Amino acid sequence: MVRDVLEIAPGVKMLHGVENECNIYLVEGSRRALIIDTGLGTVDLKPDVEAVTNLPYDVVATHGHADHAGGNMFFPKVYMSADAAEDADAFLDTGKILMGEGPWSVAKEYAAAHTYEKVFVDDGHCFDLGGKTVEVVSCPGHAKGCISLIDHEDRILFCGDCMVKVMDILMVTDSSLTIVEFLDSIEKLLAHSDEFDSIWTGHDMQALPVSFLSDVAECARGIVSGERMGESAKLPWVFGDDAYAPRATYGQAAIVYLPEKIR
Ligand SMILES: [Zn+2]
Repeated sequence: MVRDVLEIAPGVKMLHGVENECNIYLVEGSRRALIIDTGLGTVDLKPDVEAVTNLPYDVVATHGHADHAGGNMFFPKVYMSADAAEDADAFLDTGKILMGEGPWSVAKEYAAAHTYEKVFVDDGHCFDLGGKTVEVVSCPGHAKGCISLIDHEDRILFCGDCMVKVMDILMVTDSSLTIVEFLDSIEKLLAHSDEFDSIWTGHDMQALPVSFLSDVAECARGIVSGERMGESAKLPWVFGDDAYAPRATYGQAAIVYLPEKIR
């Protein structure tokens, strides 16, 4: 078992512990389990999953970025949005910096020998786990292929990188959309906000309150209206040594964005 296991609710676990990898979630119903995101692909996820559940399981990727979908290749079939496929296929190109040379070449070798089936899902698709239903809400923005998942019985929103607090919300990736399009997604999630009591992101080690969603919406609205443009800030190391972008903040939320990709 390479990763730590944290139980965040009865039958809901987080697998965590490979450097630069996202949080990986496991939701168990009475008949099936659902794995949300697969990490970097530098360390096989399958044995870690099978150490914590005896149930048959499905795998879903919140989007195609290398730190979330790199481990897809360890499974025969992965659900994702159609728009996430391109990023998921490019994981070795974009993951090299995150993985480091050694793990990257190992992942490359494994990926060359293994293919997996992509099954595309969109708004309203439900994973019926037996006594638990997890619903897809598409929320393009951070990446064009982003989806969130609502675990209706546990009242949890799993949002991938659509919203994060431990680091800024990154609207500066190659597949990021405009702030206007991102705000549409956040408002869509707000319309569902009576369906969950907590938010677990792709990188935070604790639950965020539902009010975080309102802060993100207000921050994005401020960028669009021009009232909250923010100061220039250094981007995380994966974007290079000398990369800067404006960083807008509101309440608990911070969004880094490209001025040419507001609307
Ligand atoms: Zn991402």
